[in-house]
Amino acid sequence: MNRIQYQYQYYSMAVLFLQCLVVPATFNPASAEEQAPRTYPMQALAPTVATILNVPVPKQAEAPPIEAIVNDLQGSKKVAVLGIDAFGDAIWAQTRDRTPYLNGLAQPNNRARLRSVLPSVTCVNFACMITGGSQTTTGIETFDSKLACEDLFSVLRAQGLKSGGFGIKDWTGDRLLGRYADLSVRDKANDEEVLAGLMEIVEEEKPEFIIVQYGETDAVFHRHGPSSDEARAACGRADAWLARVVPWLRSRGYAIIITADHGQHDVQNESGETSGQHGSDSDIDCLVPLVWLRSGD
Ligand SMILES: [Zn+2]
Repeated sequence: MNRIQYQYQYYSMAVLFLQCLVVPATFNPASAEEQAPRTYPMQALAPTVATILNVPVPKQAEAPPIEAIVNDLQGSKKVAVLGIDAFGDAIWAQTRDRTPYLNGLAQPNNRARLRSVLPSVTCVNFACMITGGSQTTTGIETFDSKLACEDLFSVLRAQGLKSGGFGIKDWTGDRLLGRYADLSVRDKANDEEVLAGLMEIVEEEKPEFIIVQYGETDAVFHRHGPSSDEARAACGRADAWLARVVPWLRSRGYAIIITADHGQHDVQNESGETSGQHGSDSDIDCLVPLVWLRSGD
């Protein structure tokens, strides 16, 4: 046993001793579950939204709806999926001090995790969110690929319901979601402009389903690494964005599902500079938050 292991063992024993002094009176096995939220496959999101909106599940969906969310949101007439690009569950865990709004929304009974489909990249996972299919089913390799399976937007359209897909110009939210949804924004340079355009469309058209890609987090994590101060600040801005858009949508009848397409991990180049990447099957790239809320009506 080396010195660090020895110290660690000593430390662990001390913690155990302290826990024995404090914990027994309040020990509750449920608290262990609350620490580790349940994980569902990304393929479950589209079937969940379809079931809430009472329309058929897209034909090639690869997972059943998430019962806990369906039970909580059933009866909602509108659903909004807010995807914070690259905001992995591990990144959220590191930046809790920057996300007071999201922390306040997420309680043990309305919080879980999704596992991204592979490769854990944006276009493949947003394609999954609107179809329930992994890459072999959707055929999506870039945001310009043609969908090879049924999507939620067309299911809704067949039922006479409207949808919107939103994102920054030339990002997945624009080129993939915007291309397949009934309603979208054009030529928006940043998340603020996307939000302004989305608000206009929602006020006018009242689509029953919207899905948004919030993009800045992914760009900042790539540049500086998800553990950087810059990434922490970007998570704070994403939280502030949620604090504006969530109450606004809830007051217009939308049930809310907050998630991400994938996570991201730090990488160091030869000169020691840190940046960020994703695409692997690791938990840090694949586990993302999932938080749901009823509408405000
Ligand atoms: Zn990325």
